[in-house]
Amino acid sequence: MATSSFITIAVDGGAASGKSSTSRALSTRFNLMHVDTGAHYRTISLALTEAGLTPEDTARVQQILPGLPLGSVVEGRTARLAIHGKAPADESLRTPEINAVVAQFAAIPAVRHYLFDYQRAQVALAREKNFSGLIMEGRDIGSVILPDADLRLFLEADPAARAKRRAAEGRADAVAQRDRIDASRTTAPLTCPNGATRIDSTHLSLEQVVEKIAVLITALLNS
Ligand code: C5P
Repeated sequence: MATSSFITIAVDGGAASGKSSTSRALSTRFNLMHVDTGAHYRTISLALTEAGLTPEDTARVQQILPGLPLGSVVEGRTARLAIHGKAPADESLRTPEINAVVAQFAAIPAVRHYLFDYQRAQVALAREKNFSGLIMEGRDIGSVILPDADLRLFLEADPAARAKRRAAEGRADAVAQRDRIDASRTTAPLTCPNGATRIDSTHLSLEQVVEKIAVLITALLNS
């Protein structure tokens, strides 16, 4: 039995595929530190936008990044990215303005490179904070950031179902367009990594998805 061992879980998938709600529910159930790397790209996009940059200004983006010191603020079971010691409010990260530029900023290799070590270091932070493991969600977690994660999941749902979820949340978000940009970029594209477990949530409730994954985690803990 490995019930006391620390586990790492990677959750990837397209926009509005249910990654965040699922990851949050599992973090509560298994005492895992939750890291939303989409929020990392949103936080960087907000800082760059506030500095007056657009995703076309790639050279200036590269110049400005080293002046944005990264840190973590742990609130409950969620670790959030802080720049200059401050984690922006969640609402300021999920505006139509940020939705419109985040995938373009995230496609810039320098931006991804800037976050790489920080994101990998979240494993050590979760251990240090005495969590039972880490659940990290994004687009390239199982493929690039944590390819050795104990469990790698890929969540899917058909585009109509995903657009409906965002609309039900009252949010304007072109999910299909972001997916196109995310899947076609050269650096760390959105992809289901080899060996990851695919879960199609089109016809499943959040509880059903969580239950399916909870079975996998429990098996892992008992292996
Ligand atoms: O998960 P969320 O939809 O908030 O992510 C916002 C954007 O951040 C994505 O559309 C994608 O462009 C980028 N992202 C990424 N790699 C990740 C997580 C998010 O490129 N690991």
